[in-house]
Formats: sequence, C-alpha cells, structure tokens
Amino acid sequence: MLTKQEDLDDEKARKQKRENIEKNIGVKLTSNNEEEKKTFSELLKEYEDSLIKQGSDSFDAASSPVYLSWKAYKRIAGYALRYSNEQIDPAEWREVYGLLIGHIEEGKRLIVSDAIPMTVGDAHGVEFEYIHYADYAEIDGNVFQRSIEDGKEEFTVGWWHSHPGMGHFFSPTDTATQLYYQSLNPYAIAIEFDHQEKSEDNLGIKALRLTRVEDGMESPYDFVELRYFVDSNKEIHEKIKATIAKMNEKMPEVLGALDYIDNTIVKKELPNLQKKFSLLLNPEEEDEEEYKYEEKSYIWDSESITLTKGAPKFRAKIESEIEQCSIQLQDLQKKSATEKYNQKKEQFREKIKALLDKPNVQLHKVMDDYGKAYEVILPFRDFLDSKERKALENFEEWIYGYFRVLDNLKFALANL
Ligand SMILES: [Zn+2]
Repeated sequence: MLTKQEDLDDEKARKQKRENIEKNIGVKLTSNNEEEKKTFSELLKEYEDSLIKQGSDSFDAASSPVYLSWKAYKRIAGYALRYSNEQIDPAEWREVYGLLIGHIEEGKRLIVSDAIPMTVGDAHGVEFEYIHYADYAEIDGNVFQRSIEDGKEEFTVGWWHSHPGMGHFFSPTDTATQLYYQSLNPYAIAIEFDHQEKSEDNLGIKALRLTRVEDGMESPYDFVELRYFVDSNKEIHEKIKATIAKMNEKMPEVLGALDYIDNTIVKKELPNLQKKFSLLLNPEEEDEEEYKYEEKSYIWDSESITLTKGAPKFRAKIESEIEQCSIQLQDLQKKSATEKYNQKKEQFREKIKALLDKPNVQLHKVMDDYGKAYEVILPFRDFLDSKERKALENFEEWIYGYFRVLDNLKFALANL
C-alpha cells in the first residue's frame, strides 16, 4: 500500500488517540504544555497497566491469538482472488484492501467474524486514503473497552490486504497503517493474503502485529498465531476451492448484473419513475438532509401557490386532491347528508386510488427488474467491494424512500 501520510493532520490524529485512551483509563492526560504531553507509548503503557489491574493477569495484547471465521476467510480469499490468480497475467495482479470486524474475548483472544472488502488498488498498490481513517473512527475506545468486558460488541478490529506473489511481510506503508490501528487498540491485527502461498496445507494467509508500537515506524513486527473456528485447514481448503471455482465462473455475470443495476435501473429507470410520478424531493435542488429525514407535506395553501423548486409535483397533486376531498366530505358530514357522503367518499377513493395505482404499477416493474439482477448477485455479494456495494445501497435507499411516501399516501387515502 502506498501512503499519503503527509496529508494527514498529525496533530489532530494524535489528539484523537490521546482522547480515546483518556476515555478508557478515565484519567485526563492532556496537558496544554507541549513539554508535558505524554508520548503515545506512555499512554499505551498506562492503559495496559490499567487493564492488568482490572484482572486480566495474562494480558498480552500484542501476542494474543487471532481466530478467523470461515466467512472472514472466504471474503478475504474471494475478493483478493478476483484481482490476482493464476489465470491473470502477474503483471496485472492488483492488491486489495479491507476491514476486519470482530471482538475481543475475555481479553485473551481476538475473534475476527467478518472481513469486509473495501477497495482494489492499481498495479502499484492500494492508495491509502482518508476513508480508512473514517472507517477506523468506528474503533471508538469505549466500544473497544466494552468488547473486552462482555466479548459481544463487534467493531473494526483491524485491516487486511493482499500481497499477490510477494509473500508475507510489512512494507513501510503497512507498518504505518498497522501503527495507526494498533495504537488505538493493542489487539488490532493485520491480515495478509497471498494466493501464491496457498497450497494443499497452506491457506495463504498470515496475521501480523507490531511488537513495539512505542517505536513507531521503527517497530519490528511478528506473525501472530492464527486459528480457525471448527474447520481444519484441509476442510477450509476444500471449501474455498469450491467457492472460488463458482465465483470465477459467475463473476462476469455478477458484474454484468451490477452494471445493469447501476447504469440502467439507478441512472435511468428510477429517474424516469420520479419524472413521471414524482414522490421524492429532488436532492439536488433541495437540502439533502431534509430530503432524507423530513416527512414533508406539499399541500400548499391556495393563497400562495408557490411550490419549491425541488418539490415533487405528483405528490403535491395527490396530497392536494386528498385535502380537497376531505374538505368536501367534512362539509357533507356537517349537513348530515349521509347517503351523499358515502357516495362521494367512494368516488373520491376510487379517483385517488386510480392516481396512486400508476406509480405503483411502474414501481413494481422496476422492483421485478432489480429482483432479477439481484438474484444473480446475491450469492456473491460477499465478494463485492464498497464501490460495488454502493450501487445496491443507492437503489435500496431510493426505493425505501419512494415506498415510504407511497405507503403514507395510501394510508391517508384509507383514512379519508
Ligand atoms: Zn502490504
């Protein structure tokens, strides 16, 4: 991985680390005097001591073993093998990067339950981006502390990347990355995968930690004991072989389906639906936050018919229709014209229902379309990275919003 370390706001990062540790040890260590500021290693030492005091006698975070779930292994190997395998020219092999999710059990072992693919690099490695820091912000000191206490809370416990054909070691960039992770959480682990190391009895994977975080970039590293849940290496080997064979066969189709969702459904079908039957605010024209969280109504008072630019016209029309109908019905109710009231009510309902049926039919067409494409993707969703998953998330977020508004309108109609 290449680093853009110089881009990072060092002072801010240091402050954040210090604050996290202060939270954990419950002692304020920050001083305004630069001379008095403790070095990070001192803080770490104090933190480790405080854990020992809490009763973890055998506390040795840096050498605590790592347990990897089948799911985590499968995602690491699967995603890495998409970009480097024996069928691809070695000159084209690319490194991949991801995050590890898990918890700490009894302060003694690190359990890695999942490994999320994040990004693929170019031929020269994976660019180290701010996104990693944002991801890692999840490793809040308190979450980490709770994980030690009850062994349940899952959080980001480290990172993984591939070394296609390079073997297992820490490059200076890897050290810098691991330094960041491990200085916040002494259990944090780096996992490396090299498909060329994979053989009958070798899973091509190693876990690494720095042995002297306090030495910063000078810190040596060591391999950490890696264990697997239940399955033996041989069983995992057999399972991964079958998984990869299936993945290799289906991946072109999966990427085709993904491309269809992204370029046809999300970029064409959804905007068409919104153009014809607009129910959602146009986020480009309205405040995005408002679009997401505010249940807005578009019934404007007749004196000032000014609908804001991004407001959905179709929804405004239906809401106005419902409003008009209910005024007329209330009127009839006041006059105790029961028969006419019932008759009108039925008419209004039919009319508005007919209006709502149109987007409903279209929506279900889009959903069917998506469903077919998603069926192809689903068995391989684990091997998609953050960018690829984004297309699915975009669709799901949009459709959820659209359905919600439609449901609200149906509810309003039912209560007419
Ligand atoms: Zn590396």
